[in-house]
Formats: sequence, C-alpha cells, structure tokens
Amino acid sequence: MLSVETYPTLVEASQAMTDRSRFLAGGTLVMRAVNYGDQSFDRIVRARQVDRDIRAESGGLRIEAGATMADVLASRDAALLHVVAARIGGPAVRNMATVGGNLFAPNPYGEFTTALLALDAQVIGVNGQATPIESFLSGRAHHRGLIAAVTVPRITEGDFRFLKVTRIKPKGVAIMTLAAHLRRGDTRLAFGNMGPTPLRAKSAERALNNATLDERGIAQALEVCCQDLQPGDDALASTWYRREVAPVHLKRLLLNGGRR
Ligand SMILES: Cc1cc2nc3c(=O)[nH]c(=O)nc-3n(C[C@H](O)[C@H](O)[C@H](O)COP(=O)(O)OP(=O)(O)OC[C@H]3O[C@@H](n4cnc5c(N)ncnc54)[C@H](O)[C@@H]3O)c2cc1C
Repeated sequence: MLSVETYPTLVEASQAMTDRSRFLAGGTLVMRAVNYGDQSFDRIVRARQVDRDIRAESGGLRIEAGATMADVLASRDAALLHVVAARIGGPAVRNMATVGGNLFAPNPYGEFTTALLALDAQVIGVNGQATPIESFLSGRAHHRGLIAAVTVPRITEGDFRFLKVTRIKPKGVAIMTLAAHLRRGDTRLAFGNMGPTPLRAKSAERALNNATLDERGIAQALEVCCQDLQPGDDALASTWYRREVAPVHLKRLLLNGGRR
C-alpha cells in the first residue's frame, strides 16, 4: 500500500526519507513509476515549501533543487545552462522536471546532471553540506536525505559545450550526452548514458589539456575518448555502437561546438 506524507519543510521531509521512500519533486519519474506498479518504494514524501530560486552568487550560480527546467530557461543568471534545459523533454516535462530530480534520473536521462558534472558543480544537502558532484554521483545509489540546491562555479560562457545525441529530433531520448568545460590546463569532459551514472572521460581530459582545438590537437583525446567510460547495451544502442560513435560526437563538440 502506497502512503503519501507531506511535511512543512524540505528539512523535515528529508528526515522522513527511508530506503523505501521517494521524494515527489516534479514527479515526472516518480509518478510514472507509480503508474507502472514499481514495488521498490511504498512511501511518497512531499514538502509544502519548495524553493525554486536561481541566483547569481559571488562565486557562480546557486540553483535550488526545486527549480524546474522551465525556471532555468526563464533565468538570465542561468543563461549558460539554457542549451541544456531546452533539450530536456517537451514543454510539459520541462514545466515539471526539477534540477533536484535530474540528479537521480537513471539512464537514458540525466542530461542536466551531465552538464553539472562537466561544470564541477557542488551538490548541497539540506544541512548545507556541499559535496562535489562527482563524489555525489559515485555514491548516488546509496544516497539518503534530500538535496537542497546545486552550485555552479562562474565560468566563461564560450568555454562550455553541450551535445545531446538522439535518433529523433528535437525531443528524442539521448543515446549519449556530452558536456565539456574547456579550460586550458583543466578541461572537464562528461558523458551521460555512457555508464551507470554520468562519468568523466579523464584520459580524454588529460589529452585536451593544453591542446589546440584543431584536428591534430584533439586526435589523442578522440583516441582515448572511451577509456574511462562504461557504455551499456540497451534498446537505444549497443555498447559497440556507443564506443564507435563517441569519438565522432566528441570531435563535433570540440571543433563545431556540437553542430554537425
Ligand atoms: C516524457 C518524459 C521525457 C523526459 N525527457 C527527459 C530528457 O530529455 N532528459 C532528462 O534528463 N530527463 C528526462 N526525463 C526524466 C525527468 O523528467 C527528468 O530527469 C527530471 O529532471 C526529473 O525531475 P522530477 O522533479 O520530475 O523528479 P521526480 O520524479 O519528482 O523524482 C525523481 C527522483 O529524484 C528524487 N528526488 C527528487 N528531488 C529530490 C531532492 N531534492 N533531493 C533528493 N532526491 C530527490 C526522488 O526521490 C526520485 O527518486 C523525461 C521524463 C519523461 C516522463
């Protein structure tokens, strides 16, 4: 029997979370799971006060977990992330889908989280504790408690690249997602749907550090592109296909900003 519990604040809702609970944010995944008869949870936890604020801070940007993709698109402060939010679902999904929920979205979803990984975001718990997104993702399966916000360091807009690879445009599900923060000496490159969670392609990152962004400069990065990734086989694409096409899409991302 499924129970629904509503708490006044996110902190109280967080305290009520157990392994058999799901937090209802936008509900785009939770309600679908309910409709499909998912037996892995029997409690839905809600909070009355949900913060959707997005604001620039001295070090960058803070996005409250309850902000939807539509909120991101409406925020001038979050202009850097418009290219990402715009590629998530259709308008109805974007009106509901939250940034907090995206952190937990399984494959083939989680594009926003892939971008946050490339941007070296911090995940902020309800107690205010900040966790680097990479550590958060590696422990995500056992994560307890609710997320209050994410913070994104300030970056130069032209240094960020994003590419969602789909068979059906514009709303298809991602075969893979690529996001890069191209910083001389400290490049971060993240792939979505190329492992159990979004993953960094660290060998390719090292090859890109101090490389020029031309055919010769990126050749080594393309060579080692999949070394740190664990692409799976699913109805969208095989492991073999994903490994074959990942360098092709990485090349597009690096040389044309993702355009074909
Ligand atoms: C038709 C359709 C199309 C979609 N297209 C895309 C797409 O293109 N790209 C994409 O990335 N996703 C897509 N999704 C998946 C989903 O809409 C998004 O990933 C969305 O961001 C999930 O957020 P939500 O608020 O709806 O999560 P919910 O369904 O409310 O929750 C999802 C999970 O996150 C947990 N959770 C939510 N908020 C918090 C929090 N603050 N703290 C801790 N845990 C929390 C819940 O416990 C639950 O396990 C699609 C879904 C549908 C139904």
